[in-house]
Amino acid sequence: MSCRSDAPWRIRQAVTCADLLSRRGYHPDRHGLMLCPFHSEKTPSFRVYPGSKGWYCFGCHKGGDVLTLAEGLYQTDFKGAVREIDRLYNLGLTGEDKRTEGEKRADNAALRKQRQTHGEIARAEHDRLTERWGVLNARIHHMQSRLDAGEVIAPFDIAELICKRDRIGWKLEGEIY
Ligand SMILES: [Zn+2]
Repeated sequence: MSCRSDAPWRIRQAVTCADLLSRRGYHPDRHGLMLCPFHSEKTPSFRVYPGSKGWYCFGCHKGGDVLTLAEGLYQTDFKGAVREIDRLYNLGLTGEDKRTEGEKRADNAALRKQRQTHGEIARAEHDRLTERWGVLNARIHHMQSRLDAGEVIAPFDIAELICKRDRIGWKLEGEIY
């Protein structure tokens, strides 16, 4: 089954973690907290953030965006997560392409422009991005080790840090357009 190259990007625009969770029968409270689907617990430590800001579990220290969430919920890989979300939301991103020729042309032109921009960024800033990825990753690991040590630390958006790191990772891998 083929998958449109802009599928991950479109999914991140169209689907929130909160919505995916509710469709799977999970209902976070008004603070975005719920029992973690990925480890066994009695007090909620899984937090979902508004919009596209992602999720993070303060118990098992997993986190990410809507696609990493789908990977976990469906126990699949990145491509499997794209397929599951596409099927659930009927986004038409995998399988038969139902766009008209005009729509395809417009989408391709927009993609080319983005790729060109990202291509230039990648060439000019590859080193900077790699360094930034390393810095973010170190910060995430540092926070996780403090949490592991039982330290109570001030509220922070570790999910957003993970999302930022992963987006840079995808950009470096050429998976994001
Ligand atoms: Zn957990």
